[in-house]
Amino acid sequence: MKYSTLILHNGNEVDPHTGALSIPIYQASTYHQSDIDQSNQYFYSRVGNPTREALEKTIAALENAGYGFAFSSGMAAISSVLAIFEQGDHVVAAEDIYGGSYGILSRFYAKFGLDTTFVDMTRLEEVEKAIRPSTKAIFMESPSNPLLKITDISGVVKLAQKYGLITMIDNTFMSPYFQHPLDLGVDIAVHSATKFLGGHSDVLGGVAVTNSEDLASAIRAVQIGFGAILGPQDAWLVQRGIKTLRARMELQQRSAMTIAEWLRQQNWVEQVYYPGLTDHPGHELIQEQASGFGAVVSFTTDRIERAKAIMKHVQIWSVAVSLGGVESILSYPVRMSHAYVPREERERLGITENLLRLSVGLEDVEDLMEDLVQGL
Ligand SMILES: *Cc1c(COP(=O)(O)O)cnc(C)c1O
Repeated sequence: MKYSTLILHNGNEVDPHTGALSIPIYQASTYHQSDIDQSNQYFYSRVGNPTREALEKTIAALENAGYGFAFSSGMAAISSVLAIFEQGDHVVAAEDIYGGSYGILSRFYAKFGLDTTFVDMTRLEEVEKAIRPSTKAIFMESPSNPLLKITDISGVVKLAQKYGLITMIDNTFMSPYFQHPLDLGVDIAVHSATKFLGGHSDVLGGVAVTNSEDLASAIRAVQIGFGAILGPQDAWLVQRGIKTLRARMELQQRSAMTIAEWLRQQNWVEQVYYPGLTDHPGHELIQEQASGFGAVVSFTTDRIERAKAIMKHVQIWSVAVSLGGVESILSYPVRMSHAYVPREERERLGITENLLRLSVGLEDVEDLMEDLVQGL
């Protein structure tokens, strides 16, 4: 079966009890146990719920994984996966990882004795240098946010195998449609389902997948014990969003490419960051490990005032955090996703006050481009 068919036909599209072409929202916390000596498949919804399970199996199928888990947000998924580690363990993470992941590692988990070293994940020698005897895992994100740097996923996996480490990746920006990290040997992939999986800016969710039975039982223990599970209504919304994943990713990527190429020709644009552009430093690499470039484009304007004027005058683009929805979103990383990062550190990472990030949606691409120049 081809991938586009698998998105719609993976065994989780028909309700086994009624034949309904959508697994219903099983809005129940508990289940009648007709025979107390025989354990029911479902007995309490924190442990298992048919709507959530349909989503978990779907995402596992789409990531070519043996096991899938759904959580109440992307951060709940990431935090729950990180909770499989122990006091005294050490993690090597990408320095330009999602802000929430940076925060939970450097503040929350640090409190419990889980140490993290943040490195430029695109430089394997730096990753290797950061590995210590207590290192247990390497946490990647590719493409990264907001500069869309590409990590050599297979290279990191090889390094991890040499030292016996677990590899994790945040696959949110690519979605399972464009990138299958488990096929590249990564142990655990996580997503904010709030973004491309849900796709409609109407639900928060997170997922984690793995092929390892041991890792799956560790994650499952946290999912049940910590309890940050996705509710049935939200699971249903993510499941519905996934049905159009291919159509959205293909069209949004096409418009992103058009906009990236157009931006590069504008005299008020300084630099464009999009891995689909042939001069992007990760252009070759991303083609080896993914089947697309995604729908997020960042760029810098020649002057800060210009970036602010664009945000002030756009009418079609929403000025907001988040990405991956059908509606186009314009973000300002220095005040939004990276506001918590100290100024010097931000500038070292290239996140400057003239940098804008676009999540390209499904509107007409001409309208989107015209809207960007309204304020100039
Ligand atoms: C949004 C996002 C998250 C966090 O997801 P939430 O659903 O907001 O908790 C994690 N990683 C990446 C790359 C994201 O874009």
